[in-house]
Amino acid sequence: MPITKLNSNLVYASSIFFWLIFTCAVGYLQIVYTFNIQDLKFYYFLAPGTVGIIFGVLTARIILLSHKLKQMAIRDPLTQSFNHGYYNQTLNDWCDKKATFSLILIDVDHFKNVNDEHGHMVGDQVLMRLCELVTETKRLSDVFARHGGEEFVLLVPRTDLVAASEIAIRLCEIIDKASMPYDIHLSCSLGVAQYRPFSDTPVTLFERADKALYASKSNGRNRVTLEEIVST
Ligand code: GH3
Ligand code: MG
Ligand code: MG
Repeated sequence: MPITKLNSNLVYASSIFFWLIFTCAVGYLQIVYTFNIQDLKFYYFLAPGTVGIIFGVLTARIILLSHKLKQMAIRDPLTQSFNHGYYNQTLNDWCDKKATFSLILIDVDHFKNVNDEHGHMVGDQVLMRLCELVTETKRLSDVFARHGGEEFVLLVPRTDLVAASEIAIRLCEIIDKASMPYDIHLSCSLGVAQYRPFSDTPVTLFERADKALYASKSNGRNRVTLEEIVST
């Protein structure tokens, strides 16, 4: 599970604190035991203190930069939801583990109209707002990713079809009622499928969710459709 936000002030403070203590302690040992000076003066610690601060700042910058790089590798730059690569990796991991989970596919209804009527920039803002909304609504353990364009996917762990359908219905209602930039009314169509550990691959699971999503579109949009349950 990736860390989403690092408090940069905290990283700087703890890193500088650590290095200050370390360099001043080494300085103290050298002064007392190597140079055999017992009468300590404040300015003896100026050099190790300065080195400590420089090391602290450099360490904090390395930590923050590597965190930023990690986030860039797994997040969609526009919406900050997870990207397709991270979604694929998570889906494959969960399938390998034969975990209990469901997949909710979300596609914005008539999004082309938003772009045509208000422009691409406004379309982008609407997508950002939509992702903000889903991120606020979803559980912490759910993985929300941009599948591509105006299509998103929510992987819900430890959740069967019935529970996933409740989550999807709630999401659909929240999006339908949400306020969007420029008073645009947005709705989404959703398709839900539960992973079948003994017969599914990531592809077959996605196909069932996609088929359910297609049914939501054909039956009038702004709704949730569950996968077809085939009794064996
Ligand atoms: P449907 O209800 O059938 O899904 O209709 P739709 O208009 O949402 O679907 P369609 O596939 O016809 O159009 C999707 C549109 O989404 C077209 C594309 O330009 C737009 N789109 C995809 N990605 C982005 C994006 O990052 N920003 C913006 N502004 N538009 C995007
Ligand atoms: Mg669409
Ligand atoms: Mg689409």
